[in-house]
Amino acid sequence: MTINKQLKLAERPGGTPNESTWTLEQNDMPSIEDDEILVKIHYVSLDPAMRGWMDDTKSYLPPVGIGDVMRALVVGEVTESKHDNFAVGTYVQGVGGVQQYVATDGKGWHEVDPSLAPLPMYLGVLGMTGMTAYFGLLDIGQPKAGETVLVSGAAGAVGAVVGQIAKIKGCRVVGIAGSEEKCQRLTGELGFDAAINYKTDNLYKAVREHCPKGVDVYFDNVGGEILDVALANLNFKGRIAICGAIASYNDRASIQGPKNYLSLLINRGRMEGFIVLDYAKKYQEAATQMAQWMMAGQLKEEHQIEEGIENFLPTFMKLFNGEKKGKLILKVAED
Ligand code: NAP
Repeated sequence: MTINKQLKLAERPGGTPNESTWTLEQNDMPSIEDDEILVKIHYVSLDPAMRGWMDDTKSYLPPVGIGDVMRALVVGEVTESKHDNFAVGTYVQGVGGVQQYVATDGKGWHEVDPSLAPLPMYLGVLGMTGMTAYFGLLDIGQPKAGETVLVSGAAGAVGAVVGQIAKIKGCRVVGIAGSEEKCQRLTGELGFDAAINYKTDNLYKAVREHCPKGVDVYFDNVGGEILDVALANLNFKGRIAICGAIASYNDRASIQGPKNYLSLLINRGRMEGFIVLDYAKKYQEAATQMAQWMMAGQLKEEHQIEEGIENFLPTFMKLFNGEKKGKLILKVAED
């Protein structure tokens, strides 16, 4: 009999997750009711936001409950269906959780086509990651040709796409990343105009040097000191898109407000947060545009696939320790 391996939240981590945070269970396969489908999950998306979903604090989604399957975006195949909209054999994307099978009523799920793009791409550039970059940059950042766009977490899944879209829009693009190798990839393969290594460069000096006309748009994936540096270099009517603050996700007690926030007043600037879920109705339009840019060779994607639900913890930690390239994905299906 097929079993379903499920990763459940065992306790809320005070800081960095560890072996006690989740338990791996082997349970019976779920059965489906009328108007439901059974999805065999192939790939799970690893996202920094998952760290926030584990905290019992007010947020844009309720926290994952203790004893519940860890929330995650997934792609997989419909293996049983009692639902008019989903046929057996189709591939779907949705919030399926860190497990091998899920029974669902299909709400919030949509079909994806593996003949158009490999399945992992529907978790990356054609999924939430790409949507975040697209709407965060274009709707919140509103870059114009000739302007300077500064991106932190630039070698990460979202940041790499943000920088490439900003280039397509005719901007000067400067990325901030955590190693020489990543910086070289940004300026080489991905076409950024300059890259700054936040672990070795003097940030204030480097941003001034590589953004000689100042920063018109700062896309913030990181928070902390880098946000302060961006504020210090913001131009008149500059925009800051607050996408995330990965530097503090495992250490919320250390968060301090930006010291240089008065730059917003002096420059009549705008700093605005956003949640990608608010753009759900426009995802299709964005995915079509992203696919066109990819086909035209203007947008490159990279993902790293780790194997085995048993390896969830070390894989998850790669989001925070820099040991990964591009979009991080865990293959949970056992063929
Ligand atoms: P990702 O692929 O893990 O990329 C994050 C990048 O941040 C990594 O490349 C990492 O590489 C860098 N980083 C990690 N810790 C850092 C630190 N302490 N200081 C500076 N850089 C650090 O994650 P992602 O999917 O691109 O997500 C990026 C951000 O977007 C996250 O903050 C996430 O929460 C946010 N997000 C927001 C939304 C939304 O709706 N607002 C949706 C999706 C994601 P290096 O340190 O090696 O450079």
